[in-house]
This record gives sequence, structure tokens and C-alpha cells, in this order.
Amino acid sequence: MLSKIIAEDLVSRLRESIAIKNEIVITCHVGPDGDAIGSSLALWHYLRGLGKSVHVVVPNRFPDFLAWMPGADEIIVYEKDRTRAEEVFAQADLIFALDFNEPKRLDKLEPVFSKAAAPRILIDHHLYPDNFAQLVISYPEISSTSELVFRAICRMGHFERITLPCAQCVYTGMMTDTGGFSYNSNHPEIYTIIAELIKIGVDKDDIYRKVFNSYSHDRLKLRAYSIYRKMKVYPKYRTALITLTLDELNRFNYQAGDTEGVVNIPLSIDGVVFSVLMREDTDKIKISFRSQGTFPANKVAAELFGGGGHLNAAGGESYTTLAEAVDKFRKGLPAYRHLLEE
Ligand code: 5GP
Ligand code: MN
Repeated sequence: MLSKIIAEDLVSRLRESIAIKNEIVITCHVGPDGDAIGSSLALWHYLRGLGKSVHVVVPNRFPDFLAWMPGADEIIVYEKDRTRAEEVFAQADLIFALDFNEPKRLDKLEPVFSKAAAPRILIDHHLYPDNFAQLVISYPEISSTSELVFRAICRMGHFERITLPCAQCVYTGMMTDTGGFSYNSNHPEIYTIIAELIKIGVDKDDIYRKVFNSYSHDRLKLRAYSIYRKMKVYPKYRTALITLTLDELNRFNYQAGDTEGVVNIPLSIDGVVFSVLMREDTDKIKISFRSQGTFPANKVAAELFGGGGHLNAAGGESYTTLAEAVDKFRKGLPAYRHLLEE
């Protein structure tokens, strides 16, 4: 039996909203990861099972290692099919916002989302959600939005409606947002849920292999290059920084998601508690932050680069050159000395 994390009145309001709505759009953050796609597709499967007309719209491409997910081929990618995305948002009578806490995380899809007339329901686990939804189901202590979707469905009395495809999507999100249950994963109920998902038929070993062991040759070489040639360690600050230019990425035939997980690698060095990856994009520098223990990666992301996220996993952007972003980081790092030095 799971504890009742989601408040009863939120469950009732969720149930009531779903009951009276029929044209539903589900959306998630830019650069969708396993939890964004996992939670969106899990909810999509559930709502379709109820007979709703429902579409998942994401701002931009998701990584190939998620393409196997049941329903992935029906996702509308805004950057590829703007007209269709705008159409479904305009027709929607209910919008679900999953796995993000502020509309700007939708990037270029934000104006479409903000203009749509339909009421919004947020299901998320990031700190400090903005006030943009009529119903807010926000539990930062839960390690994935996919787990929250599972909990919400169960609390509505619909555990029996969780089909194998839905369960596979829930599992994928829970697995990816905890790095294969290697961080943020000590809550015992995570494993109660996994046991239920396995009983439904989820093959967890197969999902692990599809998501984490499905590299292209180029992707593995890029990973090796990032560590061997591009990683800089600042032992005094127990910090590591990796930078990748567009030119370097192109050399390895970069595809969306290819640098996923690279930022975690330096944390495997004994003593390193903070790791940063800066990846040059066509219009910005995308920055990922990871930490171990109590060091607040999200604080650095917010204070230096206007980003955010969780204590141990955060992100931000810089609209400067890569060199300027590095400079800003190096100059800013000493301010966190008291939290980093041994
Ligand atoms: P990643 O490094 O995998 O892109 O993101 C790690 C975490 O930080 C995720 O929870 C993600 O939602 C959050 N995050 C990533 N980029 C940004 C950003 O630009 N702004 C904010 N507020 N959060 C971000
Ligand atoms: Mn998430």
C-alpha cells in the first residue's frame, strides 16, 4: 500500500476535470528527457484508455534512445510540425503540463501554450512552480513526474487501467530521473511501485538496455572524447567542467540526446562533488549541473545562469559565447568555496 502523497482534494479535482473534458493536450519541457516523455506518454495511454482524444506535444526533438517507447511515434514535435501543434492546442479543452515548473521551459512552444484558452493542470516535481495552472500537483520530494502520474492514476482508483505500455512509460521516467536508481532513489515506495510495474509485465532489464545501452558508435566516441580531451578538474573546488563546441559535436555527428549522461561521469572521480557540462548550440549555450551530497547544483544554475532544477541535477542557458560562459563560471565558482572545499 502506497502512502497518500497527493492531497485528497487535488485527486478529486483531477478526477472531476478529466471526467468532463475530451480534447486533451499533454506537454512537457524543451529537450525532453526520459521522465518528460515517460510521464507524458504514461498519461496519454491512460487517458486514451478512458476514451479521450489526447495528444502529446513536445517543444523539440527527443533522443533516439526514447523512440522505442510505446506511443512515441504519435508525439507531435512543435519544431517539426508547428501547424499541427497549434491546431491541437487551439482545440484543447484541457492541457496537462508535465515535468516543468515555469512556462519558459517550453521554449518556443511557450506562446502557443500561453495563448491556449483551456484550463491547465500541472503535474511536476521541480521546486517553486510558477503560478500558471489552475490545478497544481507539485511534489518536489518525489523523484520523477512519472512516479507522480502513476500515483495520481492509482489514487483515482484506476490502477487496473494501467496497461503494459503505460507501465513501461512510468518505469522509464522513474529509471532515467534517478540515473538507473543511483541517486534520489532511497524512498522505499519507489520499489513498491517497481514491483507493481513488473507484475503488470514490465521487463526492467530490457528497458535499461534500450535506454542506456543503445549508443551509436559516434556517441560513445564523443563520450570518451569529452572525458579524455575536454574535462577540466578543479581539485580545490572538487569541481569538474566539460565544454563542447558545435564544431566538436559535429565531428561526432551529434544527435539530440548524445551528451545525455556525460555530465554525470566526472562525479565518479573520488572527491568530485560538482560537475558541469557546457554544450554549444546554434543559438545558446546549454548548461547542465550535477552534484553529489548537499552541494546545491540548482543554486549555482539559478545564480549564475538564470536556470534551476533540483539540488543534485539542474540546468541553465547562456546567450553568450562559450568562452564567456566558461569565464563567468570560473569567476563565479569561488563564491561557493565554503560549500565545496573539504
Ligand atoms: P539537464 O541537465 O538534464 O538538461 O536538466 C537537469 C534538470 O534541470 C532537469 O530537472 C531540468 O528540468 C532542469 N533544467 C534544465 N535546464 C534548465 C533551465 O534552463 N532552466 C531551469 N529552470 N531548469 C532547467
Ligand atoms: Mn523529471
